[in-house]
Amino acid sequence: MAPITDVPTLTPPSRSAVRAYIAIGANLGDAQQQVVTAARDLQRLGAAWVCSSLYRTAPQGASGPDYVNAVVGLDTLLTAPDLLDELQRLELAAGRERPYPNAPRTLDLDIVLYGDARIDSARLQVPHPRMWSRAFVLVPLQEISPTRVDARHLHALADQAIRRI
Ligand code: AMP
Repeated sequence: MAPITDVPTLTPPSRSAVRAYIAIGANLGDAQQQVVTAARDLQRLGAAWVCSSLYRTAPQGASGPDYVNAVVGLDTLLTAPDLLDELQRLELAAGRERPYPNAPRTLDLDIVLYGDARIDSARLQVPHPRMWSRAFVLVPLQEISPTRVDARHLHALADQAIRRI
């Protein structure tokens, strides 16, 4: 039988990359090393990766050691739910446990922004609903993406101590 040569090539629908911002926090074990490792691991999930400085902050609404925080910007082809799956895989691999709300943690990864998307599902809310009240998110986010942070929001958080490491 003659080879079939005239079958049209089907091009799969292409997705364009979305700029996502991910907040990283840790306050158990070698928190600084865990944040650096997580920031590097996130590079595998997209391109045009950028990471803020590392910051130290006191825990909010909980006791325990100070946190190390950073924010990473990433151009990713993953959908937001798939990105969350990957973040939760990294949290588990870092030994994350959830014994009670706001417990100290070896690694916490939150999707802060996913392009301009507004998501309100049972599992995922984006923009992260508490980002505007957290200096440990807004200060590093403003460092790498000044246009995404309103100066008035930052000003309102001036009483939250945050120190660049
Ligand atoms: P946490 O204990 O702070 O790590 O919260 C994780 C939970 O928050 C998970 O069950 C997620 O499904 C949910 N969640 C909702 N919105 C987000 C978000 N934007 N980024 C990460 N987790 C989220």
